[in-house]
Amino acid sequence: MTDTPRLEIRNLMRSFGGRRVVDDVSLSVMPGQVTCLLGPSGCGKSTTLRMIAGIETQESGSIFVDGEMICDGKYRVPPEGRGIGLMFQDFALFPHLSVAGNVAYGLKGRASKNRARVEELLGKVGMLSHIDNYPHELSGGEQQRVALARALAPRPRIMLMDEPFSGLDDRLRDDIRDETLDVLKAEGTAVLLVTHEPGEAMRMADEIALMRNGKIVQRGAPYNIYNTPVDKEAAGFFSDIN
Ligand code: ADP
Ligand code: MG
Repeated sequence: MTDTPRLEIRNLMRSFGGRRVVDDVSLSVMPGQVTCLLGPSGCGKSTTLRMIAGIETQESGSIFVDGEMICDGKYRVPPEGRGIGLMFQDFALFPHLSVAGNVAYGLKGRASKNRARVEELLGKVGMLSHIDNYPHELSGGEQQRVALARALAPRPRIMLMDEPFSGLDDRLRDDIRDETLDVLKAEGTAVLLVTHEPGEAMRMADEIALMRNGKIVQRGAPYNIYNTPVDKEAAGFFSDIN
């Protein structure tokens, strides 16, 4: 394993209306690993993710993929050139496309090759038998699986996930979390997962970055953060794990 992070952000800053919502955030994700950006609602998680994706601009700070700078104040690789996949809660499937059409949507190149990739991924997420269905014929959990396959289809080096499981009911959520993790690990994708649920971070993360009021207040392995929280507030945050 190399020491170069797949994704590294350094000193990212962003304000809205004179208020600093992302304040000097630095973090990294190693190849094949899951880093969770964990913190309460409004602390700046989504804004951080959007800057990494390139759909929001930072005031300062820089972003590196495999050691290569993709964005600082002056230089900017556009979103589609960053090798980054996105999975957001409200990132719906295209209703007019079949499951196969949705997963193939971002793929370029030969149709037969794409078909093989679509089938491979739908197999991995357990949705191959639904390949010709349309989104409205699927349950929420099934749609989620297809969305994962769609995001992975172009083989992104990095996957950014913003509360991707929060629309699902409790019973389903645990299963989908585990399945999602299996698929991401099998694909070797580095993942930055945003969540406000400590239980989700404990379950999924190799490393947790705890965020509060725009700042990272603690970073470490899940059990370290859980056992030695940086302060009372962090301890309280972890105390209501479900
Ligand atoms: P989180 O994802 O942790 O809930 P966000 O990154 O969405 O937090 O938001 C952080 C803060 O920045 C919030 O107070 C939010 O209202 C504010 N904010 C986010 N986007 C914008 C925007 N485009 N314009 C103004 N304020 C924003
Ligand atoms: Mg958010």
